[in-house]
Order: sequence, then C-alpha cells, then structure tokens
Amino acid sequence: MKCPACGNELTGIDVGEITVDACRNGCGGIWFDQLELNRLDEQHETAGESLLDIERDPAVELDRERRRKCPSCEDMVLLRHFFSPLKMAEVDECPGCAGVWLDVGELALIRSQFATKEEREKAAEEYFDDLFGEELDKMAEEGEERLRKARKFANSLKFICPSYYIPGKQEWGAF
Ligand SMILES: [Zn+2]
Ligand SMILES: [Zn+2]
Repeated sequence: MKCPACGNELTGIDVGEITVDACRNGCGGIWFDQLELNRLDEQHETAGESLLDIERDPAVELDRERRRKCPSCEDMVLLRHFFSPLKMAEVDECPGCAGVWLDVGELALIRSQFATKEEREKAAEEYFDDLFGEELDKMAEEGEERLRKARKFANSLKFICPSYYIPGKQEWGAF
C-alpha cells in the first residue's frame, strides 16, 4: 500500500490487537482501516502511544492542503473533515472503505482532545445543540419520536461536517 501523502510504501505496525499502516521513513503519516482509529484515539488507550513517534524522513515535504487518494480503494478521493467539534485536527476519511488517514502529528492532537469516549460524545452533543438547538426545540414540540430520529441521524454523522456528508438540504435540518 502506498502512502497517500508522499507515495512511500506503507509498513504495518502492530498496536495491541490491530495493525495499522504507517509511512515510516517517509512523511510519518498513518493509515487506519475502518474503526481502528476508534480504538486508539483516546489518552487511556495507551497502545496508541507507540504511534506518536513514527520515524520520518526530514527531507520529505508534506503538502497538507493537497487532497489524498485512498491507499486501499481504487480512485477514491479522501474527504477531509474535522475529527471533533473542537475543530483542532482534520482527518482524511475514505467514503468507500471508511479508513482514515492522519498526517504526522494529528494523532497526538486527536488524543489530546478528549480523555474518554464519553467526553467526546458530550462535546459532540453540545456542539450539535449549539448549532441546531432551536430546530431541535421545535422538533421536540412536534414530538419526541421525531427528535429522537433527528438526533440519531446527527450522531450518525459523527463529527458533523454537513457539506461532506449531507447532500442537499434535509427537511429537518438547518444546513
Ligand atoms: Zn508518506
Ligand atoms: Zn478506501
């Protein structure tokens, strides 16, 4: 598998029970297959620490603006979105296989945001309420069921980046 950022060959690194693909001696980025990142993105998930220090080749220049292609799918451009409502770190996610690419330093940034899954979910919820609170109040008046559905849908968007994940305007939404 080739590095989507610098073209170097990725190598597998065992982390606990999973194996991620890292750009060693290249740009230092890491590829996580679907759901792998979830197991390493919080501080208490100590296995992730070993990935904070991938050996890099200092001569490799990283163009963080350039869009990347999925290293695993054919001809699939990765979508860039914020990892969390704190909007600190951006990640590149494949719409095909749901793998995630992190540039060097991004895992550390992500791990520094929330200590636990609960903390992260709480932040997402607060962010969502901020954005759509009024809309949600309206829905609550119209019925609990509708509100529940809307929330479920919003949560399924994970970290809320409407332009990437929701084509067009949703009948319930404020996009
Ligand atoms: Zn690379
Ligand atoms: Zn893919």
